[in-house]
Amino acid sequence: MAIPVVDADLCTGCELCVDIAPNTFQMSDEGISEVIDPEGDDEDTIQEAIDSCPVEAIVWE
Ligand code: SF4
Repeated sequence: MAIPVVDADLCTGCELCVDIAPNTFQMSDEGISEVIDPEGDDEDTIQEAIDSCPVEAIVWE
């Protein structure tokens, strides 16, 4: 099963993915997105978050 992974070096902390899929992503203390539950939201919602990331920091692995 593929899971979403955030590249911490690319993430700018815009919080868009957290707004779209808040059960999957959260902002870390460092101000970057991190995956809290790879199945927290349905796949379409996670895909929308991935597609919305302005720096393409989230990928399926
Ligand atoms: S949408 Fe992309 S840049 Fe914005 S917080 Fe999420 S991973 Fe980081």
